[in-house]
Amino acid sequence: MSIVAIVGRPNVGKSTFFNRLIQRREAIVDAVSGVTRDRHYGKSDWNGKEFSVIDTGGYVKGSDDVFEAEIDKQVELAIDEADAIIFMVEVEAGVTGMDEEVARLLRKSKKPVFLAVNKVDNGQRAQDAVEFYSLGFENFYTISSINGSGSGELLDDLIKAL
Ligand code: GDP
Ligand code: MG
Repeated sequence: MSIVAIVGRPNVGKSTFFNRLIQRREAIVDAVSGVTRDRHYGKSDWNGKEFSVIDTGGYVKGSDDVFEAEIDKQVELAIDEADAIIFMVEVEAGVTGMDEEVARLLRKSKKPVFLAVNKVDNGQRAQDAVEFYSLGFENFYTISSINGSGSGELLDDLIKAL
């Protein structure tokens, strides 16, 4: 089964989106090693296509350096094992240095990347989201993990890449 990983800095809404995706599904929590402890696996499907989803994160609180090293590790793992990657950012904070760091790592990979600009809960925020085009990803979506808007388009394109 194809694997989709959700990556991004803390607080962008990865887990909220993951929980939406695995609605009506049993979340599988895998705790085999130190690394996978921070990863939650679930199953989802869209238009009859089933796939596994990995929610990355659950980072320990620490300095920005600790965060960054941890995020880098999660992104490298995602690049290794996923068939497609959802790179999540959020419109409230705008483009941050950590977003740019994740983007840099993902651009080096050959895996399909879907940039999801989250927390676009209204039209004004859709306007603000255009600044994320600077990260350089063609597959660009504005979504709200809280109200579900935009996720259909993202998932339509995502399953074509699996
Ligand atoms: P993670 O650290 O990336 O897994 O982020 P979480 O899923 O834990 O969400 C971080 C915070 O952002 C929580 O307070 C969520 O309720 C909030 N959040 C997530 N998605 C949205 C959204 O679409 N709109 C808004 N306004 N808040 C959101
Ligand atoms: Mg989370």
